[in-house]
Amino acid sequence: MTSRPAGNKPAALIIGGGASGLAAACILSANKVPFTLLEKENKPGRKLLATGNGRCNLLNFGPPAFFGDSGFAHSVLRRCGSDEVARFFEGLGLNIFEEELGRAYPTTRQAASVLDCLLAGIDAGGCGQLLTGSRVDRLTRAGGQWVAHCGQESHQAPRVVVASGGPAAPKLGGDDGMVRVLESLGQPATPFSPSLCALTTQAGPIRGLAGQRVYARLWLYHGDSPVDAAAGELLYTQEGLSGLCAMQLARAAQEGLQAGLPVSVGVDLSPLLNTCPVHMGRLDPHQQDPDSAQAALALLRARAQALGQRRMYTGLLPRALADKVARLPIPQAAAWLTALRLRVTGTRGFDHAQVAAGGLDCAWFEPHSLRSRLLDGLYACGEALNVDGDTGGFNLLFAWASGILAARDIVQDFKSM
Ligand SMILES: Cc1cc2nc3c(=O)[nH]c(=O)nc-3n(C[C@H](O)[C@H](O)[C@H](O)COP(=O)(O)OP(=O)(O)OC[C@H]3O[C@@H](n4cnc5c(N)ncnc54)[C@H](O)[C@@H]3O)c2cc1C
Repeated sequence: MTSRPAGNKPAALIIGGGASGLAAACILSANKVPFTLLEKENKPGRKLLATGNGRCNLLNFGPPAFFGDSGFAHSVLRRCGSDEVARFFEGLGLNIFEEELGRAYPTTRQAASVLDCLLAGIDAGGCGQLLTGSRVDRLTRAGGQWVAHCGQESHQAPRVVVASGGPAAPKLGGDDGMVRVLESLGQPATPFSPSLCALTTQAGPIRGLAGQRVYARLWLYHGDSPVDAAAGELLYTQEGLSGLCAMQLARAAQEGLQAGLPVSVGVDLSPLLNTCPVHMGRLDPHQQDPDSAQAALALLRARAQALGQRRMYTGLLPRALADKVARLPIPQAAAWLTALRLRVTGTRGFDHAQVAAGGLDCAWFEPHSLRSRLLDGLYACGEALNVDGDTGGFNLLFAWASGILAARDIVQDFKSM
């Protein structure tokens, strides 16, 4: 807990001590604007510590890749883009390096460094109070103040920043309660659904492969129409498919299932066979490679001739996959390896999602300030808004940028009084 001098009333409440709330708190702190941050967990930044497998892919320098109210996300990033967010962190003492595809990480390769820098930045100002174990369950207005009710306690200030995130990963703090509170106050919202989430599929064709990781290209179909595609690391699970490229298809899978369409995923292991380049990220679903089955067939025939039927998969496929196709005639094996189609039955839900689609409708917020157009003195930022980004650092980028802009507006407002 950081301390604010006694008698210094908060100019703002921040609800949520995750990425966007902590970024907002740093800006207020640097500008000596007194605030109280309310976090329901017993520590701030729990989800942040788990990001990027503990390495924190904290932003992306590439072109923006957002869904939901994506135009709003672009407007926010035009005002506070990746370069500016990087400078914000450098100002906090964090060194950042850029990997492939514009992904940026702390040079320490530890998410804990990101959290430590944010907490040090908040502490440095000496004007903020960070209260943990403080779940806000109600917001009311009284005498020009916002009152946040946490059980028996309440806190008030003329401005409130809702930085409470979405319901993905509830074990790490994910929760949609605050968005529901805002809905009850008249702020419209789109229902949340899991995005960037493992898929559940029919089990039979991939039985025995759970735990196996490979490079793959995946196509998601609504009926027979390809609607989304991604390439990268694929992880077979007991329930279906995971790994980043499968998770990227969850949004489209969910949309198809909600529309009552038959949804399936095509699995092409050409990157594993080395018959196409290993590419990471989204693909154009309409640009399928018509030659992949032929290339696999030619490869398998050549290997059968050179190495014999018994050894043709050795060194080409991981053992579990080799066992799967070993008894198939070569044309069927080539088809299994490049054109397996699995029925998608769902996603693994918020417990297994990294991000939630849906949230507060952005049309009712100003992109330069994150101020509500409906509720005076109320701001929202991060995943609580109807913006979800692709993998690669876009979700955190939006969380930082929107938190920074909201806090800058509060600073201006506070100093003009
Ligand atoms: C396993 C995992 C890995 C990820 N990896 C990456 C990655 O590498 N790069 C990337 O860009 N994104 C990643 N993400 C997504 C990213 O973490 C989120 O998009 C981002 O944290 C959203 O920031 P936020 O501030 O909106 O919400 P959060 O960071 O979720 O913070 C919200 C905070 O509000 C608190 N809260 C909620 N309700 C209340 C309430 N009523 N009262 C008080 N407090 C409340 C929560 O406890 C939480 O601490 C990952 C997510 C997960 C789950």
